[in-house]
Amino acid sequence: MLRQFSHPLALLLWLAAVLALVSGSMVLGIAIFAVIVLNALVAFFQEQHAEHAVEALSAYLPQRAWIQRDGHRVQVLARELVPGDVLFIDEGERISADVRLIKGSVEVDMSALTGESTPVERSAGDAGESQRPLDSKVLVFSGTTCVAGSAVGIVRNTGSHTELGRIATLSRQVRSDMSPLERQVRRVAWMIAGVAIAVGLLFLPLGFFAGLSLGAAFLFAIGLLVANVPEGLLPTITLALAAGARSLARVGAVVKRLSSVETLGCTAVICTDKTGTLTENKMRVVEVEPVGASEPLLIAAALCTTATYDGDRMGDPTEIALLDHAASSGLSIDVAQRDNQRLKLFRFEPQLMRMSTLDGVAERKVLHTKGAPEQVLPRCTLAPEAGRRWQQRVDGMTERGLRVLAIASRDLTTESPDLAREQAEDQLNLLGLIGMLDPPRPEVLAAVNECHSAGIRVHVVTGDNGRTAAEIARQVGINAQQVIDGEKLDQMSERELDELLTSGDEIIFARVLPEAKLRIADALHQLGLVVAMTGDGVNDAPALRRADIGVAMGRSGTDVAREAAMVVITDDNFATIGAGIREGRRVFANVRKFVMYIFAHAVPEVVPFLVFALSGGAVPLPLTVVQILAVDLGTETLPALALGREPAEAGLMEQPPRSQSENVITRRLLWRAWGLMGTVSAVAVMAAFLAVLLHGGWHPAAPTGVGTPLHRTYLQATTMSFAAIVACQVGTALASRTAWASLKSVGFMTNRLVLSGIAFELIFAAAVIYLPPLQCVFDTAAPDPWMLLMLVPMPWAVWGVDEIYRWRLRRQR
Ligand code: ADP
Ligand code: MG
Repeated sequence: MLRQFSHPLALLLWLAAVLALVSGSMVLGIAIFAVIVLNALVAFFQEQHAEHAVEALSAYLPQRAWIQRDGHRVQVLARELVPGDVLFIDEGERISADVRLIKGSVEVDMSALTGESTPVERSAGDAGESQRPLDSKVLVFSGTTCVAGSAVGIVRNTGSHTELGRIATLSRQVRSDMSPLERQVRRVAWMIAGVAIAVGLLFLPLGFFAGLSLGAAFLFAIGLLVANVPEGLLPTITLALAAGARSLARVGAVVKRLSSVETLGCTAVICTDKTGTLTENKMRVVEVEPVGASEPLLIAAALCTTATYDGDRMGDPTEIALLDHAASSGLSIDVAQRDNQRLKLFRFEPQLMRMSTLDGVAERKVLHTKGAPEQVLPRCTLAPEAGRRWQQRVDGMTERGLRVLAIASRDLTTESPDLAREQAEDQLNLLGLIGMLDPPRPEVLAAVNECHSAGIRVHVVTGDNGRTAAEIARQVGINAQQVIDGEKLDQMSERELDELLTSGDEIIFARVLPEAKLRIADALHQLGLVVAMTGDGVNDAPALRRADIGVAMGRSGTDVAREAAMVVITDDNFATIGAGIREGRRVFANVRKFVMYIFAHAVPEVVPFLVFALSGGAVPLPLTVVQILAVDLGTETLPALALGREPAEAGLMEQPPRSQSENVITRRLLWRAWGLMGTVSAVAVMAAFLAVLLHGGWHPAAPTGVGTPLHRTYLQATTMSFAAIVACQVGTALASRTAWASLKSVGFMTNRLVLSGIAFELIFAAAVIYLPPLQCVFDTAAPDPWMLLMLVPMPWAVWGVDEIYRWRLRRQR
């Protein structure tokens, strides 16, 4: 609250208040002071509102944990954990309680507690000796993340009883850094205030020489200051961003910071995963190519899994598909038995693209391997001729967009049980291929098309086979001219990669490791292209951090990825990214709209003061400072807020992406605000003012002060200046609703808030003009009916001029 009073723009108002008091205008001084208070209150509550909106976003991303309850593995909210719960910890998860491990081993990143970012190993078994609990080999702690491995543990402490909870003062505040937009606008606000002060100082001697009294010259300087300080701008922008963040969350894109809303709108390139983002992530086995009989192939594939399959099915969709297919072929396996007979597990690793299990099968120890054919086939004992034949079969399946796994086995009964992974996964006996279909999400095609028309390129970055990816990409409308595989990418120099990325082609990066994403994000960023990069795994985190917009998958993504990302897509759907970009663009366009609206009034407010000063007081002051305040802080506020809620304009997604360095306030905006609408308004205001004066028998330099015969006419004339500004601002509000389209195409009634804002504006103005107590404060007098008639054409004139300008703009395009 205090900050609102000491805010630089508020300080300028303080200055105006002091000037007013010094020049003897007690009422004005008090009025400006009242404005400062009112302004601070409004800004304070707007900011509170924005902050709550951001806090509410966290409700969209609840922390969850897997535990065992009633013998079942279930997911619960992390805050429902209790001591004694059996907690499952898997790679990529944030650990939400202090836990003693009872099975398995994990690597944990304890940086949240110790500041040490190198992961440490923790495993069930020997507790060993340790000075503090943090060093214990069997304990893992709330607030840390599991970066590799999996384990089971018993919850010891939760909530504020955890080690993390002890660091009680740990700030929970949302990081509220200023967005580039806010910084920009603040800069411009300052610039304008600076200009106002400079002009005020410049005109002070000028008015003085022109014969103005010192008091009148001061009044003039105050008027300029008050008319130009864009008081309400910053909080209105913050609020617009917060509203944008809320509507983004509603479409399924949760941003972590308000500034992300703005950055999203600048997206020029999207690098997307394939599985789960472009596709449904609902795998189904559709082709089986066994070497001999299909039975051993299907059983081996089903045994080489870690997914659970009793009651609720959980785990990798690829594995669920394999278990499903085995079951429907009458070979259903019992997962409990599968786990009991398992002697060893070589986990799936994205780098290796394969996994193996060592299973005890009827007195024998058999290794079952499944994985990408590129990885598995070379490890099989195949004659060169057979190798080529199987590779052809793989190619045939991938061309149809299938995800292909090669399955192999090896009898390891006589080998040492400590055989290393590389040695074990060798001399394999190929059992066959399994082709799975993961259909593209139906809504992605339209989203990709929208991205294309918005000048956004879409690259696919996947661990899957290039042909499979190319086929899926084709189905969703990505016209990938090139497929670059991981090996080729590694051989590329930075320059070659830059050339590739600037070629304008859409590219499929296939069989790439998550680490390669970092390189691609980096290259795009260096090229000055705002890149949105999706990711879900632990290894994706660095790329998510580096990309301008890291996009994590809310459903399939790990906690690690979600923490690294700037945006979390709650439904994992590519189409949601598109919707997010549209929303980001809309918010930015709307900020421009109300900035223009607020700027436009400056001309009709300043011109009367200039006329007054330049005529040396021969023309009496056409507008009083209190009346300016009534416009700036009364009639104008609600329409400005309403413009922030304007729906997306047609054609918004048909423009090329905005550069991140592009200013909100462009020359075109200033031209429309000041050159067109502001000028027309100023002419209308002066015309109305002079018409009333002249009609009342005024001639230049005739006295209009209190007690003179012309005084009532003068009050009516200033009242008309005020009313004319309000009438013109109605036209400005309507015109500001669109940036290039015609108001007709957008629809007059489509933003009800603007209409209510205008209604409020008119009622407020009427109160200022007609209510006797307010007449005293604002120096107004009820105008005659013919004067009111003059107001009628004004909104239409202002709006019409801008409508013609936009029409010409469209024609030029
Ligand atoms: P994507 O980009 O499609 O998500 P992944 O990194 O998940 O790719 O997988 C890369 C490759 O690893 C897949 O094409 C597949 O051949 C293989 N693969 C994926 N999941 C498994 C699994 N659970 N077991 C064995 N191999 C797998
Ligand atoms: Mg994947």
